[in-house]
Amino acid sequence: MFELQGLTRHYPVQGGSLGRRGSLRAVDGVDLTLRTGETLAVVGESGCGKSTLARLLLRLEPPTAGRVRFQGQDLWGMDRRAVRGFRRRVQMVFQDPYASLDPRMRVADIVGEGPAIHRLVRGAERRDRVALLLQQVGLPPEAATGYPHQFSGGQRQRIGIARALAVDPAVVVADEPVSALDVSVQAQILNLLQDLKRQRALTYLFISHDLRVVQHMADRVAVMYLGRVVELGPAEALFREPLHPYTRALLAAVPSPDPAHGAVPRPLQGDVPSPLDPPGGCPFHPRCPAALTRCSAEVPRRQERGQQRAVVCHLYH
Ligand code: SF4
Repeated sequence: MFELQGLTRHYPVQGGSLGRRGSLRAVDGVDLTLRTGETLAVVGESGCGKSTLARLLLRLEPPTAGRVRFQGQDLWGMDRRAVRGFRRRVQMVFQDPYASLDPRMRVADIVGEGPAIHRLVRGAERRDRVALLLQQVGLPPEAATGYPHQFSGGQRQRIGIARALAVDPAVVVADEPVSALDVSVQAQILNLLQDLKRQRALTYLFISHDLRVVQHMADRVAVMYLGRVVELGPAEALFREPLHPYTRALLAAVPSPDPAHGAVPRPLQGDVPSPLDPPGGCPFHPRCPAALTRCSAEVPRRQERGQQRAVVCHLYH
């Protein structure tokens, strides 16, 4: 569905902690494929570049280098008509269900606007489509006449999902879709996303810092650190046997749901270095418990591990 080759996004900056001109390396040479029908999770700490990656995929900003192809077409080589089709085929579910809905619009207009703009419905069809979508996301028909402030956080996220699905997308990019919600409603929204994926044969790019959520959702996982993918593989294999020291550290930091039986979580030591001035060699080396002498001097290359897995670490070279 999507193919990313050497995808890079640097932002020029002046001043800041360096006191001189520099560039913030938000995404730094990412090679990745999003396969039709899968859920690919992108995980990493805050500031690792996962949301910038989503913006590049959505064609919200151009890459500094590298390219993104959607169904074989270069995103930045598309004509206006193709861009319009792309906008319909790729939709987003936002992190914040409070800020992502226009408070002045009724739910019927929020959900019905997209189909009208893309001329998928006419007249009364719009109302019927909105009613069907609300039903599919578990909201009553009378929700159509309400305003966002009249709904709970979980219900607002359901409205956001209905809006995304209203134009029959092929791909949904979900950027931390449950992180702003109470724990009690997170599972409901995740299950809803899973059901809708099955019913509509959707492809998901699922962005999260929460590995428990990712384990529940993903077919494959890409682990990002300082703008780069450091490990990639099927979710089941990656959770069973993480290869990269950073992935292992992320998993070790996840609390067990049953403290009586789970190991004590070990938080990852140190902060993520500034993407304005990333460490040389392997960018993870200042925090890596397995670092070798060469790690501070030599950038590790991607190693394929079988057909499905890849890791960027000198331990596997
Ligand atoms: Fe650790 Fe070295 Fe591997 Fe980087 S390359 S993750 S520092 S062992």
